[in-house]
Amino acid sequence: MTIRHVGFLGLGLMGSRMALNLKKKGFEVTVWNRSAARAEALKSHGIHVAKTPAQVAQVADAFCTCVADVAALREVALGNDGLLSTAKSGQLFIDFSTVSVALVQELGAAFSAKGIDVIDAPVTGSKNGAEKGTLVIMAGGSEAAMARAQPVFQAVGEKVVHCGALGAGTQVKLAGNGLIAAMLQAFSEGLLLTSKAGVDPRKFIEVVQASGFRSPYFDFKGKALLERDFSTHFSIDLMHKDLTLLVENAAVHRVPTPSAAAMKETYAFARAAGKGEADIGAVITAYEDVVKHQLKQG
Ligand code: NAP
Repeated sequence: MTIRHVGFLGLGLMGSRMALNLKKKGFEVTVWNRSAARAEALKSHGIHVAKTPAQVAQVADAFCTCVADVAALREVALGNDGLLSTAKSGQLFIDFSTVSVALVQELGAAFSAKGIDVIDAPVTGSKNGAEKGTLVIMAGGSEAAMARAQPVFQAVGEKVVHCGALGAGTQVKLAGNGLIAAMLQAFSEGLLLTSKAGVDPRKFIEVVQASGFRSPYFDFKGKALLERDFSTHFSIDLMHKDLTLLVENAAVHRVPTPSAAAMKETYAFARAAGKGEADIGAVITAYEDVVKHQLKQG
């Protein structure tokens, strides 16, 4: 089945922007979102709105999901009026959410029994990458399904890495988010320490960015943290979810991940302090609360 009509379910920070890019690239697009207002907001762009996930699967050649977590994806895919209830042989299911490998494989079994290929295709690049269509996609699935998915991938991303069989994309995504959390953690600790010790934290950033450990991520987050801009690109709640998934996944494989386990608890502290919906950059404010010092430029 050639993919002309794409369904998109989950119109949060990421999904709303990805759905718009699919429309801009010429696909007919039908969306569904739990809170209807987010779907209605896309109507003015010529995007159709469905009342249930089942209605999306009735009309689309391929359907994509980008919802918060395991419970959300299970509901959208397998619940009452879920995608599976009306999905037909020959369609393609691409999940862009970050969920567990176990759920991705469960979906693979359930949908392939009806003749529908499933690809797990978590992304990185956050809100700005979703907006610009420059996401990096790490995908798991068969070669044939990957080939069919390429036009969809090209509409939302700039690089696709085929990581292996179904579940492999998620495996890589969880490991990658452990790295992002660790980078941000050490960066935040370094900024706060230099600042509290009376040294301009911009000197810390200048040295890091002149070294072999430089990263565009530190340019982006360094500016945001120094300006105290905690507007949400990727929430503390979602990073806590990913670190929890990473630690659980590591336990399955008997791989110790002490760094991820410690960071998971840092994010738990930030959530307990009511910061769950803020950007992950706001984790630094949880440290600030403890040391009673607010990051400031010298
Ligand atoms: P978000 O802005 O919080 O949006 C979450 C979406 O999930 C919303 O559409 C929400 O619907 C829906 N949802 C939540 N619970 C649901 C349920 N029980 N049933 C149905 N729908 C439900 O999240 P996001 O930042 O777009 O992230 C979406 C996914 O992409 C997550 O898995 C996240 O880990 C992953 N991701 C995010 C980023 C990032 O930088 N933000 C980067 C890579 C990957 P409502 O509108 O009704 O609340």
